[in-house]
Amino acid sequence: MDVKEWFEENRRINSLLRDKDVNEPEKKIYDREKIKALWTQCDNCTTMLYVQFLKEDKSICKECGHYLKMNSSDRIELLIDHGTWCPMDENMYAIDVLSEEDEDSHSDSNPDLDQEEPYKDHIISSQIETGLPDAIQTGIGKLNGIPIALGVMDFKFMGGSMGSVVGEKITRLIEYATENSLPVIMVCASGGARMQEGSFSSMQMAKIASALYIHQKEKKLLYISILTSPTTGGVTASFGMLGDIIIAEPKAYIAFAGKRVIEQTLGQVIEDFQVTENLFDHGLFDLVVSRDILKGVLSDPFWFYGLYK
Ligand SMILES: [Zn+2]
Repeated sequence: MDVKEWFEENRRINSLLRDKDVNEPEKKIYDREKIKALWTQCDNCTTMLYVQFLKEDKSICKECGHYLKMNSSDRIELLIDHGTWCPMDENMYAIDVLSEEDEDSHSDSNPDLDQEEPYKDHIISSQIETGLPDAIQTGIGKLNGIPIALGVMDFKFMGGSMGSVVGEKITRLIEYATENSLPVIMVCASGGARMQEGSFSSMQMAKIASALYIHQKEKKLLYISILTSPTTGGVTASFGMLGDIIIAEPKAYIAFAGKRVIEQTLGQVIEDFQVTENLFDHGLFDLVVSRDILKGVLSDPFWFYGLYK
């Protein structure tokens, strides 16, 4: 079905919905949402893509080869053998610590901050939208028969930002892997530390790095980080770049400070240099791996580390 046919089909279904039972408004909304969820648009070439086929294509646009953002559940499906995924810490939720402290200490609030959606509400709307408690899924599963500890960030949940829940779940995953001698794989997709949690989010960088130090240096266990687009800020500055093996997806946006921030600081326009291929040429990663062969490539280091029996 091409774009023109899709628009015609959409118009036809919409008119059917309008004409159908007008006494069931809730059903109509549900049906329209369902239709909307069937198609998505490529960020690069704007081609309309059928979601079901896109999933089979590993979220790679068949028209231009652009890598669309993958949600964490699709990532897990991509990397973990069917029926072997065991999630961890599924019931860990963030609380709005800073605003509670603020309410205790200040009676008058900042009118600028009042205009933004409160953090508590932002968390709830992201949870409804994604069906996840926070911006990461962690757990244990098998990758081509090898047990691994896997953490997958989800950019759809508040830009994959790293707050106290994300930090704690990653730390617990690494500690579990250290205790049980499992390799850790982290799939990064994040806008950086979660601003709404202030220093609580910055603290997570050091906490995760400490857990990784024990895992890698003291226990001599393997940690692989996979950087997808975008990986920025506190995630790049901590566990994103601490992998024994660092793998990046092609054409991914990977940075510490974003382009806009650098331009504002320097007062000049800069080129788009924060992409995988350019950074790879400057030695930031070990491998650039296409998404469709990623699972197979990840098996190789396990041979070197003697994890295949
Ligand atoms: Zn495209």
